Parts: sequence; structure tokens; C-alpha cells
Amino acid sequence: MPQSPVIAPTPTANRDPVPLPPLPKLLTGQVALVTGANSGIGAAVALALGQAGAHVAVNYVSGDDSAAAVVAQIAATGVKAKAYKADVSDEGQVQAMFAAAIADFGTVDILIANAGLQRDSAFTSMTMAEWQTVLNVNLTGQFLCSREAVKEFVRRGVVPEVSRAAGKIINMSSVHQVIPWGGHVNYATSKGGIHMMMESMAQELAPQRIRINAIAPGAIRTPINTEAWNTPEAYDRLMTLVPYGRIGEPEDIAQTAAWLVSDHADYIVGTTIFIDGGMTLYPGFATNG
Ligand code: NAD
Repeated sequence: MPQSPVIAPTPTANRDPVPLPPLPKLLTGQVALVTGANSGIGAAVALALGQAGAHVAVNYVSGDDSAAAVVAQIAATGVKAKAYKADVSDEGQVQAMFAAAIADFGTVDILIANAGLQRDSAFTSMTMAEWQTVLNVNLTGQFLCSREAVKEFVRRGVVPEVSRAAGKIINMSSVHQVIPWGGHVNYATSKGGIHMMMESMAQELAPQRIRINAIAPGAIRTPINTEAWNTPEAYDRLMTLVPYGRIGEPEDIAQTAAWLVSDHADYIVGTTIFIDGGMTLYPGFATNG
């Protein structure tokens, strides 16, 4: 009998060699706004939504060149794309960004509230600035963007030929909405907050046919966590936390996000989808429980 090929745990740079088929056009004619879309997970999600047929507003806070590169990549798939510079933690900038995107594209059907950062510190030396910056960007930023998106969803209502829902939001959370993370108390607190914010928004807004869900990534290969995977030693250490035996790629998040905001997922409301290679299965208990 032929043996199925063994995919060895990949030390640092290797990707899974099995290519994915192109995304189906599940979002044709819809408009998506993705925050923090000039890097990592946000860039991959923005590109996937474009491949699925959506026009994409690419938010970024710094890095004009990388934002322009993401816009060009999306536009090459045949949909419209435009970059919007705005700090998601600034109420005025968020409101101006949504007003500009709605003026340019006509409406917004989908928000991917993805922008986030870390300011790591031992607890007793964590400064007020480190605490506040993470809460402002990761939690308040998602509140501000979600609020502006919902206002537009409610104003427009359901357009049946576009989507069964009046609008869709994905709040980018983390496995750290449930796994405590010493040395990162500000970050874990922000993600725990996103969890309850998402569920409360989803409960309040579902009667208006607005679907709000979260994605909780595990360890994904992006600039936010380079030191966790960029040497073979670090990668091996990381793999002790990941039963599936490989790091996640931004595309792993992007594929699910494109499906989750489509009508194929229309009855999913207020759920967190963990995309973590089994990290939340607490693999340490496999042999030590
Ligand atoms: P990344 O650093 O590559 O991307 C973060 C993006 O957010 C960047 O584009 C950055 O410029 C943007 N950003 C930061 N502050 C901003 C602000 N004030 N306004 C607008 N944009 C801002 O990291 P990533 O891994 O792609 O992270 C994306 C999201 O995924 C974050 O919310 C992060 O917490 C979450 N996440 C990542 C992982 C992972 O392993 N990479 C795991 C769990 C959750």
C-alpha cells in the first residue's frame, strides 16, 4: 500500500507544500473594510476577501508603501481597493475613515477589526503607557470601528441580492481570550475584553440581521511574534504548544474569515472560531494530566 506523505514539522521558514485551490467568489459586490491590513493577518484577509469578490478598504496606520502594495495586489484580482490611513484608537480618525470609505464605495458590508499590537512587560514594571496603548488599540479600536460599521449596517439594512445579513463583523481576538499569558497582562486583558464585547454586540444586534463573530488565532507567522518562530530553537519550543505540529500561516486565518463573512455561514452568530492547530487543547496534559 502506498504510504501517505509525511509532512514533517517545519523548522522556521517552510510552508505546508500542499497548495490550496482558489477561493470561490462568495462575496461578489460586497464592500469590506479591514483594519491593520498592510501586514500579517490583516493583509492576508484583505487579499482573500478580494479574491472572494469583495471590494476592499485597506486600513493602515503607518507604512504607505506596504499599504499601496496590498492595494495593488487586491486590485489585480479585478475588484476595487483603496488605502485609508487612520489610527483605530482615535475616534475622529475612525469616523473620517468610515465616511471616506462609504463615500468612495457606496457602503460597507463587512468589517474585519484586526489591528492590534503588543507592549510586553513583567507585571510590576508595566508602565501606564504600555497598558493604555494596548487597551486603546486592541480593544477601544475594535469598539470604535465596530460602532461605525454597525451604524452603516443599520442605515442600509438588508439588501437581499447582496447578502442575507445587513452586515458582518469579525473581531480578531486570540487564544489569549482564554489562555492566561504572564508577561502580557495588557494583551490578554484586551483579548478577554474583545470576547465579551463581541458576544454582547452580537446579542444586541442579531435582531437587526447583523452577524458578529470572532476569530481567535493561535501562533501565526507574522511580524507581531517573530521571536517565537524565527530560530529553530524558538520554533521547536513553540511546537510543544501546538499539537498539529506546524505554525499557522496568515492564509489559515484568511480562508476562514472569507467564509465566515459569507452567506454560507449565515447562521453563525456570536461565536469565536479558534484557529490554533489545537493550542487550546492544552497539549501539556496529553502526557502529564
Ligand atoms: P502584525 O503586526 O503583522 O499586524 C498588525 C497590524 O495592526 C499592522 O498592520 C499594524 O500597523 C496595525 N496597527 C497597529 N496599531 C494600529 C493602529 N493604532 N491603527 C491601525 N492599525 C494599527 O500582526 P498580526 O499577527 O497580523 O496581528 C493581527 C491581529 O491578529 C492582531 O489583533 C493580533 O493581536 C491578532 N493575533 C495574532 C496572532 C499571531 O500569532 N500572529 C495570534 C493571535 C492574535
